[in-house]
Amino acid sequence: MTFRVNASPFLLVAGARPNFMKVAPIAREFRRRRIAHRLLNTGQHHDAALSSVFLHELGLGRPDYNLGVGSGSHAQTTARVLERAEPILQKLRPRAVIVVGDVNSTLAMALAATKLHIPVAHVEAGLRSRDRLMPEETNRILTDLISDLLLTPSADADANLRGEGIPASRIARVGNVMIDSLVDALKRARRPTSDFLLMTFHRPSNVDSLAGLKRLTDFLKKATQLLPVELPLHPRTRVQLQKHRLWKTFSAIPNLRIMEPVGYFDFVNRMRCARAVVTDSGGVQEETSYLGVPCLIMRTTTERPICVERGTAELMGENYNRALARLRSILRGNWKKPKPIPLWDGKTAPRIVKSLLGMF
Ligand code: UDP
Repeated sequence: MTFRVNASPFLLVAGARPNFMKVAPIAREFRRRRIAHRLLNTGQHHDAALSSVFLHELGLGRPDYNLGVGSGSHAQTTARVLERAEPILQKLRPRAVIVVGDVNSTLAMALAATKLHIPVAHVEAGLRSRDRLMPEETNRILTDLISDLLLTPSADADANLRGEGIPASRIARVGNVMIDSLVDALKRARRPTSDFLLMTFHRPSNVDSLAGLKRLTDFLKKATQLLPVELPLHPRTRVQLQKHRLWKTFSAIPNLRIMEPVGYFDFVNRMRCARAVVTDSGGVQEETSYLGVPCLIMRTTTERPICVERGTAELMGENYNRALARLRSILRGNWKKPKPIPLWDGKTAPRIVKSLLGMF
C-alpha cells in the first residue's frame, strides 16, 4: 500500500483488552484514507485470551512495535512503558501519538510522548467516575491534562473537561469509537443459543477482598437458580478466587458456566442473546446500551452516566440483593427502553481521523 510521502506516521497505541476495539476502527480508517500510521502494543495484557485474539479478529495484524511490558504493579507497568517507549518515540518522531481509554499504558504513553514534545490525542477523553480509588480515574484525569486533542464520546465528557479548565479548542466530540467495532461485529452475529444471563467481574472493588468474593459467590448461587449464568472469567478474578481459597466452592456452583475469556465476536454474540448482563466492566455498559440488553452495573459509580440516562444500564452499588430483585423483574419483562445516544452510530473513526488531520 502506498502512503503519502513526507508525512511522519501517526502512532496508535493499544495495551489491554478494551483498547483493541477502540483502536481497530481508527486503523481501518487510516488504511482506507492511506494515511501513514504504526501500531504499538505495550503488552500490558500479555495473556493471549486478552490480547492476540483481538489483534487477529479485529484485523489489526501484527503490531509494528511490542513493548512486552507484561503484568505487574501499577508502578511497574507504567514505568516499563515509559522506559521502553521513549527510544521508539525518539526514533520514529510520530506526527502524533493516539492513546485510547484509561489503562496504565494510556497514561504512560501520553506522558512519554509529551516529554518529547510529541503531540498526543486521547480517544474516550473526559470520562469521570469521581472515584479516585479507581486506578483508571487517575489515568483519565492525567491523560486528559497532558493531551493536545481530547476526543470525547458524549456531551457529559465535554462538560467534565470544561469544568477542569480545559479550553474548548482542545476538545472535539466525535462519538463512541467502540460502537464502530460493535456495529461491525454484529454483521457476523450468529443465531442465539438458549436462555441465559451473562456476567463479567474483574474490578478490585468486587474481586480483591475475601468479603467481596464471598458476596459474589452467594449472589451467583442465587442468580443461577433463575437462569444459567455464563461467566467468561477474567484471569485476575480467577487468581483472587484461588488466593482466597474459594475456587472449589465457586467452581462447583450448579448452572454456573465458567469459561476462559472469550473472543470479541463470541462475546458480542453472547451479549446480544443474553436476557440480562451483570458486570463491572466499563465497555460492556456501552455495548449493552447500544444493543438494548438490560445491564446491571455492580459498582457505586460510573464514568459513563449516559448509559444509565439513555441506555439500559443501572447502578447496583455493591448490593447483590438489589441485583437479584432487578433480575427477577427483567425476567418478567420489565426494563427501561433505551434511547439512541447521539454520535454512537458506527461512524466515529472517520470523525476522529478528520479531527486528527485538522489538529496535527
Ligand atoms: N470482552 C470480550 N470477551 C470477554 C469479555 C469482554 O471480548 O470475555 C470485551 C467486551 O465486549 C468489551 C471489552 O472486552 O468490548 C471490555 O473489556 P473489559 O471489561 O476488560 O474492560 P473495561 O471496559 O472495563 O475497561
